[in-house]
Amino acid sequence: MSRGVLATEKRGIRELGAEEFVGWDEVTQGVILPSFESELKENVSHIRPEERDYSDFNSYTATVASWRVIKPVYNRDICIDCQNCWVWCPDTSIISRDKQMLGIDYDHCKGCGVCVEVCPTNPKSLLMFGEAEETEDALAKWPEKKKKAK
Ligand code: SF4
Ligand code: SF4
Repeated sequence: MSRGVLATEKRGIRELGAEEFVGWDEVTQGVILPSFESELKENVSHIRPEERDYSDFNSYTATVASWRVIKPVYNRDICIDCQNCWVWCPDTSIISRDKQMLGIDYDHCKGCGVCVEVCPTNPKSLLMFGEAEETEDALAKWPEKKKKAK
């Protein structure tokens, strides 16, 4: 049995009528894989991500955490809620509510480091650490504010 994008019982049987699981390279061309279980009755951007009725096909239901070797750690004490990281993250993995940065969605963050690059504070409010680093240990190693050269 091949494993791939449709390698779940729900996907293979319900949507494709397949008797066996199928892999990503066996999907019938042109098949429609809906992102949501039910028809949307309102603008989905008004529904919080964790409250959306995602279908099994939506990439939100899959974690990519195991792809990462380094991860961003967030330091609330320094953050100015500028939202730069939220705007630039290519995987929408910055969790923000009402323009307040809350943290990182580690299920979908791929560890690219873009959020760290665009963070404007001194020191940065996001820094990359090894995947195994505990948050408390990372925060204890946070650098001091850099003084401007005269
Ligand atoms: S490391 Fe990359 S994927 Fe993860 S939160 Fe930062 S910008 Fe997003
Ligand atoms: S870019 Fe930095 S300062 Fe701005 S919201 Fe993100 S963590 Fe906070």
